[in-house]
Amino acid sequence: MPEKLFVADEEEIRHGTVMDVYFDRTKKILEAKGLSKVQAVAEVTCGSIPNKWPWAVFCGLEEVVRLMEGLPIDLYAVPEGTIFKARDSASVRVPLINISGAYSDFGVYETAMLGMICQPSGVATSSARVKCAAKGKTVFAFGNRRMHPGIAGVLDRSCFIGGCDGVSSTFGADICGTEAVGTVPHALMLTMGSNEAAFKAFDEIIDPKVPRIMLIDTFEDERAAAVAACRSVKDLKGVRLDTPSSRRGNFKELINEVRWELDINGYKDVKIIASGGLNEDSIKDIVDSAVAGFGVGTSIANAPTLDFSMDLVEKEGKPISKRGKFSGRKFAYRCPCCFEMGVALTPDAEVRCDKCGCAMEMIEKPVLKAGKRVDKMRTPKEIRESVLEQLRTLKELA
Ligand SMILES: [Zn+2]
Repeated sequence: MPEKLFVADEEEIRHGTVMDVYFDRTKKILEAKGLSKVQAVAEVTCGSIPNKWPWAVFCGLEEVVRLMEGLPIDLYAVPEGTIFKARDSASVRVPLINISGAYSDFGVYETAMLGMICQPSGVATSSARVKCAAKGKTVFAFGNRRMHPGIAGVLDRSCFIGGCDGVSSTFGADICGTEAVGTVPHALMLTMGSNEAAFKAFDEIIDPKVPRIMLIDTFEDERAAAVAACRSVKDLKGVRLDTPSSRRGNFKELINEVRWELDINGYKDVKIIASGGLNEDSIKDIVDSAVAGFGVGTSIANAPTLDFSMDLVEKEGKPISKRGKFSGRKFAYRCPCCFEMGVALTPDAEVRCDKCGCAMEMIEKPVLKAGKRVDKMRTPKEIRESVLEQLRTLKELA
C-alpha cells in the first residue's frame, strides 16, 4: 500500500484534526466550567476585498451548510452567488452569515467553515472578473493543475459559479452538473509524431458527442496548422492556440490572421480558442479579436483568498463584541440598483442607498433551523445564472 496522501478526508474535516487546536481547547474549558450552554450569535463578515476589486462573489455556502447541517443551531445567510461589498457606507462590516446557538456547539467548525468560503469566494470573484473581461465570450477553467488535487471539485465549482462556462476535471464537472471540457495535451502530438496523426486518432477514438477542438501550436505556424486541422477532422468545432509566449508577438493579430485563413478556406464555423497564461488584463487585450473563447488557468485558480472572519456579536441576547468589531445581531441589506450594502439591527428596517437613493432590500435568508435545512438547495447552474444576472444589472456584462 502506498503511504497516505496529505489530504484530509471528509470525516477528518467534519470531526477531526483540521480545526485549529485552540477551538478544541476552548470547547473543553467551556464544558469543564459548565458554560457549554451559553447562547451566542456569531456573524461572518469580510474585512476587505483584495486587489481593490469593487465587489466580490459570495461562494461556498452550500458546503458550509453541509458541514453544519444537523447541529443544534440556526443559520442565516445571504444566498450563495450574492455579489457584495464588504462594508456599508459607514464602514460597518456586512454579515453574510449569522449563526445562533450554544457557542460550544459550533465554535469548533470555524476553521473549516471559513476555509470553505474564503478561497471559493476569491476564485468565484476572479472568474466573474475574467468573464466580464471576456465580454461574455466563452471561458473554460483550466487551473486545477496549479492547486492541490484534493480541492479540484471546490475549485471547479467556484470557477463555474463565478461565470466560467466549463471546467476541466470530470470530478468538478459532476459537481457542477456539466460535462468536463478539454482538448488534448501537446504530449499526444509529440507522442504520435504529427498533428494530423493525433487529430485523426482523436476523431476516431473519442466519443462523437465530445466537441472536436484541436490544439494547433505544437509544431508549426498556427495559420497553416489551423487549416490542416480542418482538413483532418470532418466536424471540427474549433482550434485552440496555446501559443508559447516566446512565439506570441502580437497575439491579437495572430488570432485575426488565423481567422482570415480559416474563412478564406471555407471554415467559417470553426471557432478560435486562446489559452496560455491568460488573465483579466491579457484577455482585455485580445477580446476584440476574432477569438471566440478562452482557457484560463493560474489567474483564476490562484485568486487571492477573501479574509472572512467569524465573531461573536451577542451573548445570552445581549450585544457584545471584541475590540474592532461592531456588536449586535445585524441583518444584511443591499441596494437593488447599485449593490451598495447596508446593515440594520432589524430585518424590516427602512434603509436607503446613500449612493442612488433606492430602498435597500434585506437579503439574508434562514438556511438551517435547529440544524434542519429550511432553504431549498440550489444547483451550481442556478447559482451561476444568478451571478451572471447580477453582473448584467451592474452593467459589467452586456
Ligand atoms: Zn444604490
